[in-house]
Amino acid sequence: MGSAPAPPPRQFKLARESELRVEVGAAAPLRVRLLSGTAEIFGAELPPENWLPIPPRSKIAIFTWHGATIELDGISEVEYVADETPMVSYVNVHAILDGRRTHAKASQGSGLDASQGPRVIVVGPTDSGKSTLCRMLLSWASKQGWKPTFVDLDIGQGSITIPGCIAATPVEMPIDAVEGIPLEMPIVYFYGHTTPNVNADLYKVLMKELAQTLEKQFSGNAESRAAGMVINTMGWVEGLGYELLLQAVDTFKANVVLVLGQEKLCSMLKEVLKSKPNVDIVKLHKSEGVVLRNQKVRQKARSFRIREYFYGLSNDLSPHSNIINFSDVSIYRIGGGPQAPRSALPIGAEPVADPTRVVAVNINRDLLHLVLAVSYAKEPDQIISSNVAGFIYVTDIDIQRKKIVCLTPCPGELPSKILVVGTLTWLEG
Ligand code: ATP
Repeated sequence: MGSAPAPPPRQFKLARESELRVEVGAAAPLRVRLLSGTAEIFGAELPPENWLPIPPRSKIAIFTWHGATIELDGISEVEYVADETPMVSYVNVHAILDGRRTHAKASQGSGLDASQGPRVIVVGPTDSGKSTLCRMLLSWASKQGWKPTFVDLDIGQGSITIPGCIAATPVEMPIDAVEGIPLEMPIVYFYGHTTPNVNADLYKVLMKELAQTLEKQFSGNAESRAAGMVINTMGWVEGLGYELLLQAVDTFKANVVLVLGQEKLCSMLKEVLKSKPNVDIVKLHKSEGVVLRNQKVRQKARSFRIREYFYGLSNDLSPHSNIINFSDVSIYRIGGGPQAPRSALPIGAEPVADPTRVVAVNINRDLLHLVLAVSYAKEPDQIISSNVAGFIYVTDIDIQRKKIVCLTPCPGELPSKILVVGTLTWLEG
């Protein structure tokens, strides 16, 4: 039996302030075009007339402020029009942030505090639409000529680089619905695990390192200082997750907290942050369009992110299979965590208690299928304070010939000999 034939192209007439929600499957090709009016996908405007391919597994909303006619061609799993969206409240937040940016710009020369634009942190439970709201705020700001800094603290489903990292990058233009965030020079710190409880202290330390690096950049760049930051967080808002959120607000000196879809979290934050009158806490409704993702879907999404790093979104990159001598690299692990295999420790060593201690790792087959970061550190004691140049994926360990076979994004020598390992694995596929 063959698969069902693709339905013919279909048109949707959208009234003002409504959206067409589309969920694309794993393999199905789907494209969209704007026939009349204006529309945007999460803040990035649709070009008129041209077909735009929508990547597999995308869940998107094509929203119009003033009305539009949209055409879809191809196969999707879900498509429907919704006229109730929280978009007006989101764009109102944007307008306030924009005013603050303008004010900060006008205050250049009158001190660092006055010239600092908004530092917005978006918090909320899993699947409340945090990443999407960040994306819209960044796109709307960049459309108006600002270059806000996007900070992604979500080690599970981050959108700047692969999972297991916290990262920041300036956003200079609306984020393309297909390509995602263009990455010129992201600042990436490798945590190495996809949940913070493996080594929460390390997560906190890395947040501080990233914040310090950004602080330095801001002090020499009035333009990005005025544009401010938009910070995405993890969906874990209870217990340790909540503690880490508070720490993030503090570390990045956030002055606007946007709480998506949870009354309880909002009132808890209001209570605990009331000693900081300069921090505004704003509750926003979650969009009904946000698609829920279970553990399995999240795991798959992580895997695709890693695949995308090496192979590109549409298999347009060609990673290299490299062979590295054991003696040409040193591999380190940071701290001790419950998931770290004992065999990855130096012979005879017990798991260390110090969460930020850097420990040399014996190269053996336990490294198989792990994703390692290539650190900019020159010495092991600089690893925690150094960001990373990129990643390699271990495909084989030849113990006899003392060689690591790995996938690297570019040919040639690695930019550094210091590699960092955590528990981030990938099964190529
Ligand atoms: P996490 O729990 O990983 O932190 P999140 O709160 O950041 O998730 P998003 O990643 O923003 O949530 O949204 C989840 C999914 O829902 C994404 O695939 C996103 O593209 C989709 N989505 C968000 N808003 C809409 C909408 N209005 N219509 C259709 N899909 C949407």
